[in-house]
Amino acid sequence: MQKEGLLIVISAPSGAGKTTLCNGLVKRFPGLKESVSYTTRDPRQGEQDGVDYHFVSTEQFKKMVSENGFAEWAEVHGNLYGTAISVLEQARRDGVDILLDIDCQGARILKNHSIKGTFIFVMPPSIPELRRRLESRSSDSVDVIERRIARAVEEIPEARWYDYIVINDQLEEAQERLAAIVTAAQIKTENIWEQISKMFDI
Ligand code: ADP
Ligand code: 5GP
Repeated sequence: MQKEGLLIVISAPSGAGKTTLCNGLVKRFPGLKESVSYTTRDPRQGEQDGVDYHFVSTEQFKKMVSENGFAEWAEVHGNLYGTAISVLEQARRDGVDILLDIDCQGARILKNHSIKGTFIFVMPPSIPELRRRLESRSSDSVDVIERRIARAVEEIPEARWYDYIVINDQLEEAQERLAAIVTAAQIKTENIWEQISKMFDI
């Protein structure tokens, strides 16, 4: 029997550095594949359908919801986002470790359904620093930045029920900590036992 793939779930307030950290993580762990979510938002410049997201209409999304096609879905910043059950099942069957970059509402749904996974919350070092990062990204208006800050204040208490919290202050340190969590998940007895039993024929 092949090993089951691991599920790594990462959430963070917008601007905390999740994209930067996730990009670093998949470079470091080439076997870790980022799940491609479904969304009703429009593609941003450079984004590719089927690579960054599956871009669908609200109608198509709602049809998938009614057919129970999602392991979780949520409305984030006025758009719908969801993780297809088929993506998780396929990865698990193929023994592929998968990384889900999803918001707190979606992560909570997976946790409440007792989905086996490692749940990580990336925390900004402070609200002023979060504001600075959102401003430095210079892709959003002042209004949007203020809404993201207000949402961050609501999301931060959610970190309480995650398995790990990584404060993204110094990028390299945060990157190391994230890598340590993934390594620990990979060598957790229940996750590595299949390999051990083959090695020693037990
Ligand atoms: P998110 O995906 O969480 O919205 P990004 O990864 O886009 O956040 O990061 C937001 C901004 O902050 C980017 O300009 C990024 O380069 C910067 N950034 C990320 N991590 C750090 C860090 N540890 N220190 C300083 N700036 C950072
Ligand atoms: P963006 O539009 O900037 O790519 O993502 C906005 C937010 O949606 C991020 O917080 C991201 O984690 C979240 N998100 C992306 N895909 C999913 C998903 O499949 N489910 C949920 N619940 N959130 C998602």
